[in-house]
Amino acid sequence: MRLAPFQLHRPTELQTALELRAQFGDDSAYYAGGTELLLALKARVLRYEHLIDLKRIGGFDRIAVEKDELVIGPLVTHLRLATDPLIREWLPAYAKLSDNVGNIRVRASGTLAGNLCFSEPHADPPALLCLLGATLTLSGPDGERSVPMAEFILGPFTTARADDEILTAIRVPLPTAGEQFCYRSFGHLEYPAVGVAAAYQSQAGAPRYRVWIGCIGDNPIHAEPVEAALAGVPPQALSDVLPQAAEAMAAELPASDDIYGSADYKRHLAAVFIGRAVLESAGVAGGR
Ligand SMILES: Cc1cc2nc3c(=O)[nH]c(=O)nc-3n(C[C@H](O)[C@H](O)[C@H](O)COP(=O)(O)OP(=O)(O)OC[C@H]3O[C@@H](n4cnc5c(N)ncnc54)[C@H](O)[C@@H]3O)c2cc1C
Repeated sequence: MRLAPFQLHRPTELQTALELRAQFGDDSAYYAGGTELLLALKARVLRYEHLIDLKRIGGFDRIAVEKDELVIGPLVTHLRLATDPLIREWLPAYAKLSDNVGNIRVRASGTLAGNLCFSEPHADPPALLCLLGATLTLSGPDGERSVPMAEFILGPFTTARADDEILTAIRVPLPTAGEQFCYRSFGHLEYPAVGVAAAYQSQAGAPRYRVWIGCIGDNPIHAEPVEAALAGVPPQALSDVLPQAAEAMAAELPASDDIYGSADYKRHLAAVFIGRAVLESAGVAGGR
C-alpha cells in the first residue's frame, strides 16, 4: 500500500520542532529513522497530516561521555551503537545487542530513541537499559524532565512520554570497575521471543548478580528472585543454584501464546537464556 500524502517539516532547532507539534497537535508526529512510523503509515494503522523530521536538529546525533554517564542522542542508530568506539569501550554488551537488531537496513536507519518511543514489546534494548540503570531525558513545551528507563515503558506501544515530548537523550551510567554485562536473546521472527540481560560484579569478594527479562511480558521484568537466589554465590558454584533459580523464575513469567511461540516454549527459552546470560556475565564457560 502507498503512503497517504503528508507534509514534511524539517526543523533545525528543538524549539521549532516543539512549536510545530504545538501548532499541528495530534495531526502530527515526530519522525526519526521511519522504520516503524512509515510502515504504520503505509498500513494505515496510523495517519498524520504532518511529520516533524528530527534529523536536521543539531547535536541530536551525539554519543559522548559527560561526567559519569554515556549520553546517546535521539538520532543515534543501532548501527552507530554497534560500531562506536565509546560504546564498544564502555558497554561492549550494548554494542553487541545493537549489532543483532533486525537487519542491516533497520540498523542503519532505525534509532534507539525511536525504538524506545515505539515501545514494541519484543524490542531488545529495554531489558539491558533497565539493567544498566539508564535514564531518559524528555523535552516538551514546559521544559525537560528525566524518567528512569524502568518506568518509561507502560505497556505495549505505550510509554511515559507525553505525545508532544521529544526523547532528547538516553543517559547510561558508566559501569564501575569489575562490572560485567551480557544480553542474550532468541527468536525465529524479526524480533526476539525472549531477551535476558544479566550483570555480574564482585564487591569486596561478595558476588552480586542482576537480571532483567525482556520481550516476554508487556514491559521488562526485574528478576529479583533470581538475584536473591544467586547473591553471594561464586561464579564457579553457579551450576549448583542457577538452573533451579532460572526454572522457578521462568515458571512465574507472564508469557502468552502468540506468533513468537507458545507460553510454555517461551518459559523454556527464558530458563535457558537466564542461565546462559548469567554464566556469560560472570565469565563462566557454558554461558556462550
Ligand atoms: C524488519 C524489522 C526488524 C526489526 N527487528 C528488531 C529487533 O530484532 N530488535 C529490536 O529491538 N527492534 C527491531 N526492530 C525495530 C527497530 O529497532 C525500530 O524500528 C527502530 O529502532 C525505530 O527507530 P526509528 O528511528 O526508525 O523510529 P521511527 O519509525 O522514526 O519512529 C518510531 C516512533 O517513535 C516516535 N519517535 C521517534 N523518535 C522520537 C523521539 N526522539 N522523540 C519522540 N518520539 C520519537 C515516532 O513518532 C514514532 O511514533 C525491527 C524493525 C523492523 C522494521
